[in-house]
Amino acid sequence: MSAGEPAAVAAARAALGTPVVAEACGPYQLLTDAAGPLLGGLRELCAGPVTAFESEYRHRFGVAPSEPPAGTLVLFAERRRFQRYVAADPRLPRVAAGFSLALDGLVALPAGERPLAEVAGTLIHELAHLAHRRTFGSPLEPWLSEGLADELGYSAGPDGFASPAGFTGMEGLRTRLRGGYATGRAGPLARLVALPRSSFDRDPVSWDYDQAALFVRFLLLDPELAPRFRAWLAARAAGGTPPPLTAGLGLDEEALESRFRRWLDGPARGGS
Ligand SMILES: [Zn+2]
Repeated sequence: MSAGEPAAVAAARAALGTPVVAEACGPYQLLTDAAGPLLGGLRELCAGPVTAFESEYRHRFGVAPSEPPAGTLVLFAERRRFQRYVAADPRLPRVAAGFSLALDGLVALPAGERPLAEVAGTLIHELAHLAHRRTFGSPLEPWLSEGLADELGYSAGPDGFASPAGFTGMEGLRTRLRGGYATGRAGPLARLVALPRSSFDRDPVSWDYDQAALFVRFLLLDPELAPRFRAWLAARAAGGTPPPLTAGLGLDEEALESRFRRWLDGPARGGS
């Protein structure tokens, strides 16, 4: 399925306006009804972060997808058309920003009427979900799947990737999560890592995405924990049953929690 599952791709394509531009976007197929400056912007993303994605994923997480990247990116010029497409098929996720179907090799999102930098972030986040499937096979726990995807998404811009440093790209998430802790409403990491997909980000007010993104950033920056985290990811990618995260990191829940909270409250360069 080099360009994605044909029926899923055809349904997404049919929801686009006309004319449809079909061309390569890095290693993927791009289908879009964008024209003019928006199409030019999307081509920038293809030449920038989309092309750089594969080596960035490998470099940052220390794991290599076992299959080459493939699939179709369906980028809608109009949010209205994207919404109509999602509403017409009950199997599609009800999301506003965009989604990926890793099994079908499909990414779809509204690309117009929002800043190009935001489109870059969403697109890269969704490409990470496709890469998770090629790397780990079976689905990851939601905190890990979303945290890794956000790590790349929040680092991506129209030109490529910023290297992970302190809270770069995640300043807003940090402020929000510290607020959640200050009011005692955001739960501990032990809760986050135990969440099944059906409970992730389901509370009326949720810090699950903020916490997952910042926890992964922390694990990649902490000089002592980063090599252990990457080794734990590599063991997951190699198959078999991985040890629990705390065992892989060599810290108990309490020590991990207080170390994370110290980093979160520390200076902005924290951990690097
Ligand atoms: Zn996601």
